[in-house]
Amino acid sequence: MKIKKHFLFDNQNNQIRYAPSPNCAGKIVIPEYLVIHFTAGRSMQSSEKWLTDPTAKASAHLIIGRDGSIVQLVSFNKKAWHAGLSQWNGRAGLNSYSLGIELDNAGKLKRQGNKWVTWFGEEIPDEDVIVAQHKHEISESGWHAYTKEQLETALMVSATLVQKYNLLDIVGHDDIAPKRKTDPGPAFPMENFRAHILGRSENEDDMSFITTETLNIRSGPSARYEKLIPNGLPKGTKVVILEAQESWRFVDVFDSVGEEMDLQGWVHMRYLKRA
Ligand SMILES: [Zn+2]
Repeated sequence: MKIKKHFLFDNQNNQIRYAPSPNCAGKIVIPEYLVIHFTAGRSMQSSEKWLTDPTAKASAHLIIGRDGSIVQLVSFNKKAWHAGLSQWNGRAGLNSYSLGIELDNAGKLKRQGNKWVTWFGEEIPDEDVIVAQHKHEISESGWHAYTKEQLETALMVSATLVQKYNLLDIVGHDDIAPKRKTDPGPAFPMENFRAHILGRSENEDDMSFITTETLNIRSGPSARYEKLIPNGLPKGTKVVILEAQESWRFVDVFDSVGEEMDLQGWVHMRYLKRA
């Protein structure tokens, strides 16, 4: 897949269907995270209808259906309204810092007699149910399973977005709004997903990046601060991110640059990509 001018294209270079949502405002300066959601809806069609309805005041950049089909609702440079009241890693209000993907999925299920049913009363056959305990809950419940096609598409799209926008991490809505939200929930294989795309597991915290251009390294998080070395870091220098402030990253320089062995300082995020 490919991204051109903040729209998604498939491998045959056809633009993914675009159904513009009015539920967005302003530009994302530099997106940092990908947020995964479930729709808790009846169908892809009903979720698309809702998330493009101005009264919903909600949207996401993409919806992925159970058959693996995709619709784009908001271009990737605009803030979609998917995160709501949220916090992550020092950021608040994640709509300003993230891209959001909704997966068509009925969400948490209720037990009725010997059946699992959705909140809107539809029975889900046992083979489409995962019984598991949500990480923020104290007992097991039924959760609508994601389909293989849907997870494969989500993996492909997410890898494309992480690479294109140098995203720092993939998180669940239930990570950034743990008291309010349970999506994407225990049926979503987050650890596996992150390991595949980011090349690391849940418990590791490898923030290794390389510079894509010659990059000035400064004593503080803006261009006003003095350069620590006159010629900057050469293209291809490996660094590890230790701290973030707006578009600036405090990094530990892994390679020695010239005479400098233990260099740490602030660089602009735009010229870093995941190692
Ligand atoms: Zn959500």
